[in-house]
Amino acid sequence: MTVHNFYSGPSVLPKSALERAKAELLNFADTGMSVMEISHRSEAFDQLMKEAEALLREVMKVPKNYKVLFMSGGASLQFGLVPMNFLRAGDSADYILTGGWSEKALKEAKSLGQTRIAYSGAADLYRHIPKQRELDLSLKARYVHMTTNNTLFGTQWHHIPETQGVPLIADMSSDIASKPIDITKYSLIYAGAQKNIGPSGLVVVLVEENFLATAQDNLTTMLKYKTYAEHDSLYNTPNTWGIYMLRNVLDWIKSSGGTEALAIRNQEKAGLIYGMIDEYPSLYLGHADKESRSLMNITWTLPSDKLEKEFLKGAEEQNLIGLSGHRSVGGIRASIYNALPLASIEALKQYMQNFAKTHA
Ligand code: PMP
Repeated sequence: MTVHNFYSGPSVLPKSALERAKAELLNFADTGMSVMEISHRSEAFDQLMKEAEALLREVMKVPKNYKVLFMSGGASLQFGLVPMNFLRAGDSADYILTGGWSEKALKEAKSLGQTRIAYSGAADLYRHIPKQRELDLSLKARYVHMTTNNTLFGTQWHHIPETQGVPLIADMSSDIASKPIDITKYSLIYAGAQKNIGPSGLVVVLVEENFLATAQDNLTTMLKYKTYAEHDSLYNTPNTWGIYMLRNVLDWIKSSGGTEALAIRNQEKAGLIYGMIDEYPSLYLGHADKESRSLMNITWTLPSDKLEKEFLKGAEEQNLIGLSGHRSVGGIRASIYNALPLASIEALKQYMQNFAKTHA
């Protein structure tokens, strides 16, 4: 059965990464055991972890002065860890609000220290990514926090804000490794793996060493980024299965031509669905402003609840799965991450076209 998986996360994984896992499940690296059954201190796991980190560094072009950390607790835990580690008494941090996840990040920071809102798109339902001139950034901020892709509303930054030396921290959960990025522009990047690079339960953090050195030490061990950096993410038992799958996915990214090739593919894939929205604007009401459109999550509504229900029901009948919008937003959302094959996009496009012919 062919299923077209548009879930927003956990979401579609590359078939080759899953097939490799299937082939290696009962005998990982000639150990005679699965990767879930071996010690995180074993030679075989040590090799795997080194390979996963090396692949991540290669695929994302991570500079040498950045630490790669493998953590747990979801991106949601990072919302709190960032201010715990970096927002000291007397500091204030700037938050750029472009969706529900940035709001949640701000909520955690607010409970720990002083914050400022450098921009909020809430008034226009987060349709828009701010231009540089729309940002009210403070040169005195301890850091600026942003969300590079807004999974719920379907907007994405296509430029990096200029913070004039203030450390920039980014939640890249829903567009990590979907295109080449200049890591040097960020002091810290975090991402839950479950959209573009692996299964849930694993978080990847990239942090610049000098910035990390400024983190506070008066925290319990597992709340400090330094603990993960100083122990190569092995202070305690990491998510071994998550790291294994991350390796498989990164290997697929590398053999698919890297993030440069993925960026071109992602642009083409998104173009086919936005093409439908633009062709039938009175039936498919695109949520995002054109210049803020996400290449990862495409969101639209139909003119009535009844039509939306009918659209979703018909889609499911054709194995187009996971298209209903987030519970806080409603409507339709097609999540089209790296691993979603072109054939699934073409199936959705065809369905949208047929539906429009009978309903427009
Ligand atoms: N940030 C973004 C941009 C997300 O899309 C999500 C999850 N969908 C989160 C944070 C929260 O991630 P988690 O469920 O891993 O805590």
